[in-house]
Amino acid sequence: MTTIKLAIQKSGRLSEGSMDLIRRCGIKVKNGIGKLKAEASNFPIEFLFLRDDDIPGYVQDGIADIGIIGENVMVEEDRDVTVLHKLGFSRCRLSIAVPKGDQYNGVKDLQDKSIATSYPKILKNYLDEHGVVADIHEISGSVEIAPSIGLADAVCDIVSSGSTLFQNGLKEVEKIFYSEAVMVGSPNMAEEKMELVRKLLFRIKSLQTAESNKYILLNAPEKSIEKIKAVLPGMRSPSILPLAEPGWVSLHSVINENDFWEKIEELKEAGAEGILVVPIEKMIN
Ligand code: ATP
Ligand code: MG
Repeated sequence: MTTIKLAIQKSGRLSEGSMDLIRRCGIKVKNGIGKLKAEASNFPIEFLFLRDDDIPGYVQDGIADIGIIGENVMVEEDRDVTVLHKLGFSRCRLSIAVPKGDQYNGVKDLQDKSIATSYPKILKNYLDEHGVVADIHEISGSVEIAPSIGLADAVCDIVSSGSTLFQNGLKEVEKIFYSEAVMVGSPNMAEEKMELVRKLLFRIKSLQTAESNKYILLNAPEKSIEKIKAVLPGMRSPSILPLAEPGWVSLHSVINENDFWEKIEELKEAGAEGILVVPIEKMIN
């Protein structure tokens, strides 16, 4: 029987999000996490737990069929892998930072400076684009302390809230790359495997659609139905159920999270009462 091999970060900032996604897809992982390999009991998939930097290479070489990594690692490793789907977690950016007290007026100020980073390729691309030549100092960890120990004038590092930079006396001056977790795959995967990957992606997409939508229930006088329908486009049209109180109905629909607060105001104005908004677990369009 065909199975697919999924490479996941063994331990780090992608691990929890990756395993959580698999679990929410209804896939049960057998024999523990923390090992190098695991299987699932109810989906033809095997898991390989690796360092994230190694994943693009393993996928390129076909040791794993698919993998979950940050876009930053995908670009930095520059292997022959394609992005199959964006996953929306482990969002971060790669930024250049300099000591807080330094004057900084723009990227030209980095000319001939030394910059410590774990992402030399992404940094070099950025500097090249801006016609700046700097001395790129590749280090594998604790990049943020480089200026204070005299190793470099600036850093190029991953930022999410900015608190690590702040604690190390640095200020963010250029945001050069935005990243989130992505599922990558080998561009020449066998069709039977691709079939399984499509099944997995179908589940992931249903979860993502569900997450960005809410189920909404509300009560309204019958005379307001048309007005409320205009505010709530829903998947098709809202369901309308009579209430025990004559002249009143209960209206059910789906609402996009982004429109949520604005629509709630409009619904109240249209006569809606007792509005309930509940999460959707899965949504198939
Ligand atoms: P490994 O030991 O597997 O090589 P690592 O130390 O290189 O791990 P992590 O720090 O675990 O990597 O980060 C993994 C990925 O998670 C990064 O490549 C990036 O895409 C994302 N990431 C890193 N830091 C953050 C953060 N603070 N917030 C959100 N996502 C982050
Ligand atoms: Mg790594």
